[in-house]
Amino acid sequence: MSLPLFSDIKLDTVLDDLNARLDIGRQIVRDVSGDGVKASWYDVVEPLQAFDVEFSNFWAPVSHLWSVMNSSELNSIIQQALPLITEFQTEMGQNEALYKKYVRIAQSETYQGFDDAKKSVIQHALRDFRLSGVGLSAQDREAFKEKSGQLAKYQAKFEQNLLEAGNAWQKHIADKSELKGLPESALAMFRAAAREKELDGFLLTLDFPFYLPVMQYAENRALRQEMYRAYSTRASEFGLKPEIWDNTQLIHDILKLRHEMARILDFQNYAELSLATKMAETPDQVLTFLEDLANHSTEPARQEYEELQGFAASIDPSIKLEAWDIPFYSEKLRQERFAFQSEDVRPYFPVERVLQGLFDIVSRLFGVHVVEKKDVDLWHQDARFFEIRDDAGVRGQFYLDLYARPRKRGGAWMDGCRDRCVVKGELQLPVAFLVCNFSPPVDGNPSLLTHEEVMTIFHEFGHGIHHMLTKVNHAPVSGINGVPWDAVELPSQFLENWCWQEEALLPFARHYRTGAPLPNDLFEKMKRARNFQSGMKMVRQLEFALFDFMLHYNYNPDKPEPYMQVLKTVRESVAAVPYPEWNRFPNSFHHVFGGGYAAGYYSYKWAEVLSADAFSLFKETGIFNRETGQAFLEEILERGGSAPAMDLFKAFRGRPPETDALLIDSGLLQAT
Ligand code: ZN
Repeated sequence: MSLPLFSDIKLDTVLDDLNARLDIGRQIVRDVSGDGVKASWYDVVEPLQAFDVEFSNFWAPVSHLWSVMNSSELNSIIQQALPLITEFQTEMGQNEALYKKYVRIAQSETYQGFDDAKKSVIQHALRDFRLSGVGLSAQDREAFKEKSGQLAKYQAKFEQNLLEAGNAWQKHIADKSELKGLPESALAMFRAAAREKELDGFLLTLDFPFYLPVMQYAENRALRQEMYRAYSTRASEFGLKPEIWDNTQLIHDILKLRHEMARILDFQNYAELSLATKMAETPDQVLTFLEDLANHSTEPARQEYEELQGFAASIDPSIKLEAWDIPFYSEKLRQERFAFQSEDVRPYFPVERVLQGLFDIVSRLFGVHVVEKKDVDLWHQDARFFEIRDDAGVRGQFYLDLYARPRKRGGAWMDGCRDRCVVKGELQLPVAFLVCNFSPPVDGNPSLLTHEEVMTIFHEFGHGIHHMLTKVNHAPVSGINGVPWDAVELPSQFLENWCWQEEALLPFARHYRTGAPLPNDLFEKMKRARNFQSGMKMVRQLEFALFDFMLHYNYNPDKPEPYMQVLKTVRESVAAVPYPEWNRFPNSFHHVFGGGYAAGYYSYKWAEVLSADAFSLFKETGIFNRETGQAFLEEILERGGSAPAMDLFKAFRGRPPETDALLIDSGLLQAT
């Protein structure tokens, strides 16, 4: 199997190449959905899959370059290409003749003889056809199409308003004394922002990296209040230019459209539609799940809040805590209690040792070995290439690009370069891209990571082994493909757990110069700080998740409840901290109203429960128990999206997921 040649990608021909390939794709769709073609796996699914694999092999490296070696030329190519690809996918999804072929395959006798993976490929395809409105009457289909176009516009407008309203606010500060308490790193950022606008002094904006340090460190209470108010009223009737940027009516319109679309597709409400593609099966299941977590965390959260109040009063007896005081006093309390900063541990985590530690852990758990390979074509001198092998040979390969640099997108991620599959009788092994943005080595010193960053690379490698250790041979359900949204973070969060285990962490956490192990008291402090205010953190996430879910689940088209009322009810039951009346958080809740997470915000917690509960079996049997590792490998990692996520979880854990493990890890429940 050949790897992509990055040095050989010719930008000036990418668009022509893309169009030519999409034309071939359209021809294949016409061919396989034709009247004379037998509705069989061999005649319909296989040619389509072969096309998809070839297309994705062509496109993945280009799209990857866009993320890690951006240029205005490449950017303009991608902006032209994305609508073409979306258009092609929409055509496929709404192709009735093709849909009918899949229906007939599912009804055929041979279908019964299919293995899990092939059945899943067919079932996922049928589901996606239905969700795009294919099976409807002509009239309904038209209505559905119109509404979904309208919804896309409203969601984009929501994002646009939020972005513009956020960007419009800024505050110029000339006098440094107004910024007392802020760390030098934040001041440097504010100074640079001012310089960019040809101003002296400091410039504050509502970008989160600017907002957060002010909330956490600024002694100036009036400044905190001013910024909090600006931030939490963005795109609302209390924000800037409400006549242009107020998202209130859009939220109502978005909810209405989603409900109507769900009804056309024969769901009771949008929450049910959202769950059609997720691991959670019913709205009740989601609500019970969230309420269970709430039952265990509201009381601890309220206690933490009381404690915070007491602490603040010990500094300023006249204070009544307001929303803009909470991060500030929390940070002071955290520093007083744990007296350590994430910077303190960096010398113990030089990146090469961390990588070796990670590979050793994966090797002990799953019996696979990671080996670096040289002489591979790469996009940048910092990029590297590795193979994962087991006793039988190579299982998968990955590229690793660790350091931040200009023209590279921020954050960390794993992405597929090649999917495992068998096409025309030939096995293609999976290949992954693993990308981080750590600070590069300087002056002959290695790159040194914080513990957070160590967890980041474990997290992404968790996604990586899900992608690379799969044994499924059909691309739509191999690796992370076809894994539901609320389950896909299982392997990634799961692997993070080893960063908190002495037996796993201490062997590689060694001082980059002296080789001395991470001092025990430092590790103890890190562990205690991990659960600082975990009740308050938990209820905040539950508040978002419950608000999102109730809003879509209880929607009444005849008399929609105002969303601020829904939020108020949720806050009364779970929130631990006070909110000012004018807080308009929903108007900037873009996860939900901009797309993606609608009636799905609960997924964050859901996946955390899965990973904590999966890890709890290792706690019971030993964190390096080879048999438990093998079971995780065989039941979860190898099987990708080839079977329902709940079945896979149960096969591994011997029962459905339970919330206790997460509560114990968060310090909200005593281990028994
Ligand atoms: Zn992730």
